[in-house]
Amino acid sequence: MRKKIAAANWKMNCTFQQGEKLIDEILEANIELKDHQHAIFAVPYPYLLMARSEVEEERNYDVAAQNCYHKKSGAYTGEVSAEMIHSLGVRYCVIGHSERREYFQETNEILMEKVNLCLENYIIPIFCCGEPLNIREAGTQNEYVGKQLKDSLFHLSADKIKDIIIAYEPIWAIGTGKTATSAQAQEMHHFLRSVITEKYGEPVANEISILYGGSVKANNASELFACPDVDGGLVGGASLVSTDFIEIIKALP
Ligand code: PEP
Repeated sequence: MRKKIAAANWKMNCTFQQGEKLIDEILEANIELKDHQHAIFAVPYPYLLMARSEVEEERNYDVAAQNCYHKKSGAYTGEVSAEMIHSLGVRYCVIGHSERREYFQETNEILMEKVNLCLENYIIPIFCCGEPLNIREAGTQNEYVGKQLKDSLFHLSADKIKDIIIAYEPIWAIGTGKTATSAQAQEMHHFLRSVITEKYGEPVANEISILYGGSVKANNASELFACPDVDGGLVGGASLVSTDFIEIIKALP
């Protein structure tokens, strides 16, 4: 069975103390994750070690960085490398969130470098893709999102790509309260899996978890996660409220 994942993306929110309390409250719910279920906290860099030690004893709870730099090391003041993240014992990293693509001009080519550096450093990328509203309105979302995948991931061997987590996040649904319908999510996820099938074959495509992101809430998670090609969610706003994120983890099939 494919991994089903609830991933929290805190973005630039929470003080250290608030973050620690948030994780404590979620873990206190004592949700026992099954083998195929995972909960991941993507926290700001300064909180990675704290978050990692919080989840250390918990089965299938994990931690992710929200970004890494696209160079190996060197004179890049203020940046954080994949190797540094790995050295903290962190196993996941969000790559290519639409906010980074938009505000930091991250291109498909830069994201390819980041994916490579993550894999070289034993970090699983949570690779984000998704179309803006004008592309959705023009009806060309499949071509647009398919190209994001092809440009940044399709240089990988089947053996490498099968471990990557993809997060489809339509930009018009992120932080807007406007969720894609489960039919829209399923349609895109199915399309992405078919694009991967074309290149790598069905067994590989069937192993890759594809998360949905964009205003996932406690009251819509079950419906979205029940779609056959939706393998959980990448959650922003609702991951900052412990009671909401607890419900979202519980909604994992
Ligand atoms: C996100 O941060 O990736 C996200 C989907 O945010 P939200 O859940 O707030 O829409």
